Amino acid sequence: MNIIMMGAQGTGKGTVAGLLSEKTGWPQISTGDIFRKNVEEKTELGIEANKYMASGNLVPDEITVPMVANRLNEEDAKDGFILDGFPRTIAQAEKLDEILKEKNKKIDMVINLTTPREETIERILTRRVCSNQECKATYNLVMHPPKVEGICDKCGAELVQRKDDSSRESINKRLEIYDTQTAPLVEYYEKKGVLRTEEVSTKVNRLGNNVADDVLRDIKGE
Ligand code: ADP
Ligand code: ZN
Repeated sequence: MNIIMMGAQGTGKGTVAGLLSEKTGWPQISTGDIFRKNVEEKTELGIEANKYMASGNLVPDEITVPMVANRLNEEDAKDGFILDGFPRTIAQAEKLDEILKEKNKKIDMVINLTTPREETIERILTRRVCSNQECKATYNLVMHPPKVEGICDKCGAELVQRKDDSSRESINKRLEIYDTQTAPLVEYYEKKGVLRTEEVSTKVNRLGNNVADDVLRDIKGE
């Protein structure tokens, strides 16, 4: 199955994508993670992408779209994939449709996570990520802290705060881009009949793992 995870920063999109990937074997393809790995390794793509990422702006499509197209060509994505962080604009969604059409594929499900804004900002500020690029586990100091402070449960590496999560300016910029450029995708996919909206909030006692469980149950019941 080909799935897109949607949702503003801090809604738990990466968490849900990771859980679904673990249980289905379909790869989680996170454009943010691929960019960060390239930044860390100082590849040409990483150096270019970092110019935009540091300030919370979108990396241009000339860089992002071919990178996703190449990733979708890999063997592990042939039976299904979970896109996390792409598409983020209508233009990217249209390009994705073209890429998939060439392969006789389509998007089967778009999971749209919605969370009250004050809750997402709090979650971004308390988010910590594993510094080991092969692990990339995500924690939350309040909701899901590591067993030992500052250390990843899974691999023992140091936990860090993403650069773009520590600046209020960058957070606001990313949320603004989400509202103006990414949110219109909800209607785009609704029209295609593949949208599934899920509320994620401590207020309704529903978090990413609950959403992942429900989606998995439905996928298996197909
Ligand atoms: P967040 O959702 O918290 O902004 P991501 O890890 O998804 O974090 O992305 C980090 C950064 O990588 C973004 O701010 C942007 O600069 C870049 N990026 C990720 N995905 C895309 C995309 N589809 N198009 C353009 N830039 C992207
Ligand atoms: Zn780790």
